[in-house]
Amino acid sequence: MARQQAQRTIHVDGQWREAVSGATREILDPADALPFAVVAEGDGKDTDLAVEAARRAFDAGAGDWPRTPVAERAALLRRVADLLARDREPLGLLESRDAGKTVEEGRIDIDCVADAFRYFADLVAAEGAGRVVDAGSPDIHSVVVHEPAGVCALITPWNYPLLQASWKIAPALAAGNTFVIKPSEITPLTTIALIDLLAEAGLPAGVANIVTGPGHTVGARLAEHPDVDLVSFTGGLTSGTKVAQAAAVTVKKVALELGGKNPNVVFADACSTDEAFDTAVDQALNAAFIHSGQVCSAGARLIVEESVRERFVAELAHRASKIRLGRGTEDGVECGPLVSEQQRAKVESYVASALEEGAVLRSGGKRPEPSAERPATGYFYEPTVLDQCDREMKVVREEVFGPVLTVETFRTEDEAVALANDTEYGLAGAVWTADAARARRVAARLRHGTVWINDFHPYLPQAEWGGFGRSGVGRELGPAGLAEYRESKHVYQNLAPRPVRWFAG
Ligand code: NAD
Repeated sequence: MARQQAQRTIHVDGQWREAVSGATREILDPADALPFAVVAEGDGKDTDLAVEAARRAFDAGAGDWPRTPVAERAALLRRVADLLARDREPLGLLESRDAGKTVEEGRIDIDCVADAFRYFADLVAAEGAGRVVDAGSPDIHSVVVHEPAGVCALITPWNYPLLQASWKIAPALAAGNTFVIKPSEITPLTTIALIDLLAEAGLPAGVANIVTGPGHTVGARLAEHPDVDLVSFTGGLTSGTKVAQAAAVTVKKVALELGGKNPNVVFADACSTDEAFDTAVDQALNAAFIHSGQVCSAGARLIVEESVRERFVAELAHRASKIRLGRGTEDGVECGPLVSEQQRAKVESYVASALEEGAVLRSGGKRPEPSAERPATGYFYEPTVLDQCDREMKVVREEVFGPVLTVETFRTEDEAVALANDTEYGLAGAVWTADAARARRVAARLRHGTVWINDFHPYLPQAEWGGFGRSGVGRELGPAGLAEYRESKHVYQNLAPRPVRWFAG
């Protein structure tokens, strides 16, 4: 956390600088809408300079990062994890203010970021020097090796700013790439701080570059830039589609982590004792409302068996109405505000359309009364439960990305699976049941990248994360999350070359 000369938030070739245009942007605290930081508002010119630096560092950089021995790269990643642990409190607080989450959520995020760096350090350090292939002759030595993809463009969203950045930066560095990162223009602060930590850990200049600025200028330029080899994007479906289209022109490698409309399927037998009922309701609440539902894997569709619907929804709505909303830095606050006025307006329009289409409001559906811990200017919105929804409704089909839970019901297992799979997305979903055989059957039929059985939300750095359908292309985390940042190269060596004599002359 060494720097921070306001507005010098673009990092190119080891130097902090202002935007070429001199433009700046105020960063607002979503709890009161007041500015608390100022950053450089970069554009295409800043992006070009950053890509040039990353290109030079990849092709012939002073530290020669792509050819640095794997053990040294892994050691650097572990130093970064240690620095994150050292700065856990200030970084957790910064994430809380920037993204509007509670400080405890901010701290947990920083722990998870450090875990990602450690995981990819261990993964890459444990690898051999390549895969020897049997070419069928003792005269042939054939090996498949992995090389870094090159210059990576990393584009991240505002809901988990540093966590999403770490799922890209850690494997990109482990694999030996150089990169330019563009954080969300509304939550760039912890990513800026991480760039300082990378330098402190000893990363050579030019390997890690950051351009703060909007998606339509900085992000779009990164996606189309001819000197970028790979673009890894996390964000919404609309922007992700534009990124894929722009990247196709120069045939870049593309990884997309997009949205979700995630089902949480509850069978009646998961509620057969008071304790089980309490757990299922508690987890449904957590699935939908943690971080005000601004989670790509939020369990925003409750699909509950008809026979327990009334009891389940009544208890859920009761508990939702008790969630303590407020500024994330206040003691006892359980949920922060939405990230922006625009995001709240979007949520409000979805709730209005749901009510017009016949949904029944069971809790929330409005802005809360202001209080000492909840300034009137903050972007707060009450956790909202919409009963009697069906899959034709816009609120059920589209990603709201806010504290809105819709309720649908089923009578049979087949019906539950059909509903859960009836989405253009396919990021994550859960099944709650006391019947182990049914749990396995349903899990096997769900077309989602992560399936939880009697749980919701946990992920492991060792396990791939990503989506089916329009939830994206490729995977983050796990071995596949490292493979995204690599090219494979087959090296075929003939130890006893002889003429082929295909051509007579
Ligand atoms: P967004 O698509 O608006 O923005 C994401 C990033 O893309 C930002 O940095 C933005 O500036 C940039 N961007 C916007 N337009 C661009 C363009 N034309 N070219 C290049 N870059 C552009 O998304 P958001 O509102 O920041 O984040 C919320 C979305 O992210 C939700 O849909 C959520 O589901 C998704 N998300 C997915 C995952 C996952 O793991 N699948 C994780 C977190 C968030």
